[in-house]
Amino acid sequence: MEISNERIINISPIDDEYLCPICVHLLWKPVECQNCQRVFCKSCIDKCLKEKPNVCPLCQHYQEKRCSPLLYALLCKFKIACENKHNGCDDILPYESLEKHQQEQCQYQMKICRGCQNNVLKNDLDQHEQKCGEITIECKRCRLVYKKRETHEQLDCVMNMMNQSNKKIESLEKLVENLQQNVQKLEASINLHSLIDWLSSSVAHDVPLSSLASSWNIIYDHPYSHVTIVAELRALVAQCKKQIMVGAIQGSSSMILKIAAMGPLEILSLDSPLNRPTTFGNVNWYLTPSKSFGFAPSSTTINCDRADYNEKDNAENRLSWQLHGGGGWRAGTAKYLDNNSEWRKIIMTMKN
Ligand SMILES: [Zn+2]
Ligand SMILES: [Zn+2]
Ligand SMILES: [Zn+2]
Ligand SMILES: [Zn+2]
Ligand SMILES: [Zn+2]
Repeated sequence: MEISNERIINISPIDDEYLCPICVHLLWKPVECQNCQRVFCKSCIDKCLKEKPNVCPLCQHYQEKRCSPLLYALLCKFKIACENKHNGCDDILPYESLEKHQQEQCQYQMKICRGCQNNVLKNDLDQHEQKCGEITIECKRCRLVYKKRETHEQLDCVMNMMNQSNKKIESLEKLVENLQQNVQKLEASINLHSLIDWLSSSVAHDVPLSSLASSWNIIYDHPYSHVTIVAELRALVAQCKKQIMVGAIQGSSSMILKIAAMGPLEILSLDSPLNRPTTFGNVNWYLTPSKSFGFAPSSTTINCDRADYNEKDNAENRLSWQLHGGGGWRAGTAKYLDNNSEWRKIIMTMKN
């Protein structure tokens, strides 16, 4: 705090020993350098020490000490005019009570209005703020924050509340929409999972490709008249992930597997002795080079010569493609398909 000489009322001229050598004003909250015994305002010497730690501006070796009680007692004799004299404060305070007066008690200090941000005498602040048009108010009903100079009629208030409700409704509607989409996705994945469970345990019929599209890829799609050879099947292994599905579609644009079964990738590497299939899940799989490739339910035997021709036992659950130079032969009960170009041989693999 810089107290200029003209504010000191009762003592003049002021002896140098009461002046801070740094700011050359009346000492304020003084401390002493133990080395040179000179006294400084606490704030002045702290500023110096921040730039050059431990360096006294007078003797170079600063060591702080409380100033003597005698000096303090002498300072307390000073009577000082309030810093707000120019605003109208006529108070003259003793040294010890100056700070408290100026900071807490003086009604002539300047305060900043919370609305217009102008300086206003503390004395007038309440009155000013009551009238100041820039003061903000929050409406208790609609929570709108507005300036006092702006009007907030009842109609504005109702409109505002309606807008807010509409926004809330909109966001709730979006939420519901998202939830519905998630439910649909969940339902689809539940369907898919039960479908896969079913497929993996036995032979399935009339499976829409759309139900498999999200997790399965077609890697082999040829008409039954196409001649499948062992090397072709073996070559598919490189493209396959763990599970494969083998089936048949009737019609070049049809999207429905009339018959299908699912099993592990090893199926494509089988080297089955004639009529001795390997069971995976509830399905018997065989890949007998020079004879045929296909599946039948695990509870049945297969009767392969060129292909599985069994007619009586579970005929609808058998699929068989020739591997000796002819086309596919059966898809369920549809047989003699080796020259057929309507039926398609399908092999799929799981995407992940
Ligand atoms: Zn000073
Ligand atoms: Zn010193
Ligand atoms: Zn004052
Ligand atoms: Zn104001
Ligand atoms: Zn309102």
